[in-house]
Amino acid sequence: MHFAQELRAEGFTVEYLQAESTLAGIAEAKKKYGIDQLHAARQSSFRLQKDLDSIDATFCENDFFLTPPALFASWAQSQKSYLMENFYRKQRVRLNILMDGNEPLGGQWNYDKDNRDPLPKGHQPAPYLEHESDEIDRDVAKRFRIKPSKDWATTRAGARGVLKHFLEYNFATFGRYEDAMNSKDWAVHHSLLSPYINNGLLHPSEVIEAALKQFAGDTIPIESCEAFVRQIIGWREYINGMYWHLGQDYREHNGLNATRKLLPLFTDSSNTKMNCVKSIVADVEERSWVHHIPRLMVLSNLALIAGVNPQEYLEWMRVSFIDAGDWVMVPNVIGMGVHADGGEMMTKPYAAGGAYISRMSDYCKGCIYDPKKRTGDKACPFTTLYWDFLDRNRNEFSSNHRMAQQLAGINRLSDLEETRDRAQEVLQGLEAGKI
Ligand code: FAD
Ligand code: SF4
Repeated sequence: MHFAQELRAEGFTVEYLQAESTLAGIAEAKKKYGIDQLHAARQSSFRLQKDLDSIDATFCENDFFLTPPALFASWAQSQKSYLMENFYRKQRVRLNILMDGNEPLGGQWNYDKDNRDPLPKGHQPAPYLEHESDEIDRDVAKRFRIKPSKDWATTRAGARGVLKHFLEYNFATFGRYEDAMNSKDWAVHHSLLSPYINNGLLHPSEVIEAALKQFAGDTIPIESCEAFVRQIIGWREYINGMYWHLGQDYREHNGLNATRKLLPLFTDSSNTKMNCVKSIVADVEERSWVHHIPRLMVLSNLALIAGVNPQEYLEWMRVSFIDAGDWVMVPNVIGMGVHADGGEMMTKPYAAGGAYISRMSDYCKGCIYDPKKRTGDKACPFTTLYWDFLDRNRNEFSSNHRMAQQLAGINRLSDLEETRDRAQEVLQGLEAGKI
């Protein structure tokens, strides 16, 4: 509604229709205005595109991305494995970003190994930007029976404010702490830009331009600038390209035969005693967002090692996150999050025990479980299920050389039988909402 208001202020005629579905709204507009030729941007999901294909529209390319679809398709067709890093380097060269002639600026393509620090002791969150709601926001919130949020902007001016705030307060430390999680800082140093870039309030090119301008001012370390650039011109473009490349049946993959129903803790944070999961699901309940590492290494990791059905988990994520959309959720969940595609997109599952969460966050300090234990009542469910997951899927991963070290670890366990027994207790407890 804000967008309609902004367009009207610029002199456009806008008809804002609320309808049962996109097709129903288009039919209503066609009838009302006697339209016979419809022009539309290409849609961001197979389903929506199929709907619009059925009404004979003329399409122009969707300009929410930086990579022409044909260019991505030709890259993907020429690859043996779809390594994001290879795509990203091509993007750096093609778009001439952070380059020194033909070489990467600073001599390295990627500073990831410098970017895995947990937050320092006594970490204080950077100031959060708060947004005041106006009459339109309050009206929409009332209609959808939600409360207006001070965490999210709903206008282009607000979205530009979020970008400015990120560049000023969080960009310099973005890289170093990009994997860190914290119970007292929901944003850590992340940009919070995904909803605005995904719904068109910001264009990725203006985000990159602003970031590079700030970097040129000499206050931003290259490892932060490179990490941020990689998210926008690398990961975001790669995920969209892969969505279309992998096809519409990709969302139905269940390569590890995971059949467990969605755990009750996902829909209600009071259904778990695990401090990390409780705190992260409570954050999702509060503002429909957590950053990449809680999404990947806590929520998806749990769904993966507990064997939750990928499609049930995908649906939960799709309705729970503010930045969701088919093109971005499907590859991130099915490929990256729960490895349901047999390794087509990522060569290795992102499975981890409690030690990872303990190293990268402060959650374990306030938890009744112990990240180092895999058996007994105090065993961390992540640690128990991690070993049980590897054990259950030995055959599946036996020919994957990137998993060899992890699989070899199981053979060294002297308490494998007890771990298996504890895993059954944990899974039953999770299903009952008691763990
Ligand atoms: P930052 O960490 O500040 O990164 C900057 C930008 O890079 C993001 O705003 C986003 O536009 C882009 N980006 C980085 N990684 C990715 C990625 N893997 N895919 C697409 N864009 C990326 N992102 C969404 O936009 N929508 C989703 O529905 C979504 N679902 C996810 C589900 C799972 C299981 C996982 C593992 C990741 C998902 N992501 C999704 C990617 C990423 O977690 C979010 O883009 C990011 O957390 C958004 O916060 P931010 O804007 O502060 O990002
Ligand atoms: Fe999470 Fe395990 Fe740490 Fe508890 S001990 S916070 S369950 S990782």
